[in-house]
Amino acid sequence: MNQHAFEIAGVSVESLREKYQTPLYVMDQSNIEAKCALFKQAFKHQTLNTEIIYASKAFLTVAMARLIDEQGLSLDVVSGGELYTAMKAKFPASKIYFHGNNKSDDEIIQALHYKVGHLVLDNPDEFKRLSRLIKPNESINVLIRINPGIEAHTHEYIKTTNHNSKFGMSIFSPEVIELIHQMKGHPNIHFNGFHSHIGSQIFESKAFMESAKVVLNFIKEVYEKTGVLAKVMNMGGGFGVVYTKDDQPIDLNLFFPELLDFIDKTSKSLKIDAPKILIEPGRAIVAEAGYTLYTVSNVKHTYGGKSYIFVDGSMADHIRTALYQATYDAVIPNRLDSHEKKVFTVTGKACESGDIIIKDILLPTPHENDILIVKSTGAYHYSMSSNYNRLLKPAVIFVKDGKSKLIVKRESYEDLIRNDII
Ligand SMILES: *Cc1c(COP(=O)(O)O)cnc(C)c1O
Repeated sequence: MNQHAFEIAGVSVESLREKYQTPLYVMDQSNIEAKCALFKQAFKHQTLNTEIIYASKAFLTVAMARLIDEQGLSLDVVSGGELYTAMKAKFPASKIYFHGNNKSDDEIIQALHYKVGHLVLDNPDEFKRLSRLIKPNESINVLIRINPGIEAHTHEYIKTTNHNSKFGMSIFSPEVIELIHQMKGHPNIHFNGFHSHIGSQIFESKAFMESAKVVLNFIKEVYEKTGVLAKVMNMGGGFGVVYTKDDQPIDLNLFFPELLDFIDKTSKSLKIDAPKILIEPGRAIVAEAGYTLYTVSNVKHTYGGKSYIFVDGSMADHIRTALYQATYDAVIPNRLDSHEKKVFTVTGKACESGDIIIKDILLPTPHENDILIVKSTGAYHYSMSSNYNRLLKPAVIFVKDGKSKLIVKRESYEDLIRNDII
């Protein structure tokens, strides 16, 4: 088998390298569309209203914002830059949720100016700032970010009494109730409900059930204490994805109906009108659609017995291994029929020993100029990329039905110094 045989959405990786060079971020557009369809299909209920919001911090460009709009999802942004990108894509502002624990005055003004649908308030001071900045002819809906005291990571979740997150307010703190009292009757700031986000790369469905139960009980408590009933419950994102074969995500087709039924029943037993249920998947929409293509320059065997594969990228385009000890799978299309494998560490060009793309992976020995593909790099790769060592950010392309489309150009040296005062 040769490299020509390895295709992504019907396009050979060799032809992609010829056309766009490496390193290259390849996004399988059909896979993103399929994920959006899965969420829309599975996250609905005969009595509850639902809404799916794409957490754009995972991967956002103008083309991506357009694709999300075409797919009918809403958008979560956390900065003026993400909002600006969405506006350039003509994304409908009313379907945008503006998050963030520390929005600047400028960002709040921008959100009001564009008439963003919802602002997610992090703390009482932010409400004060919003009240100061909002003009009499402007209005905005707000959600309040709360911590339900549940933290979930991959295989487990904990109920925690350690409420020290920098995000939102603990449901056990009286400030949430005080804030709702302050907002009550405000002429142009409208409290609509609560937002929580319990973690990421979650494989444990019970964590979401527990969070739903705790937040619904809190909604009831707030109603009893303030007379204000939340109309919206945003449960955040964090749905796990496959990075390597060890990852076994929740089957969302089975889980979502169960979760929504549970919310319906719990609301009934609490005797409250069920809120509209929102979720905010980021990585679950884009991670598995992404591939990073690198070119191998050589293999290095150290005196101490370690074997490295050197590729033409680095931690500047792939930071999650260094940042979170994240694990990835890779293929060398040229060597697919090679049975002799060895343990390699895939590393790049950056001047750091921490510049690791994949630590200890079993691969056939590549030759100079082979393509090496890292899988599941669609989320938090392009969006977290940097120019460390003045390395150039790769191009990003969409592929679908045997065709490729450039959506972000590869950076040039001129781009690197565009803001340098010369
Ligand atoms: C990061 C984040 C998400 C998305 O998380 P994923 O793990 O990518 O699904 C959603 N909501 C909020 C508030 C977040 O901070």
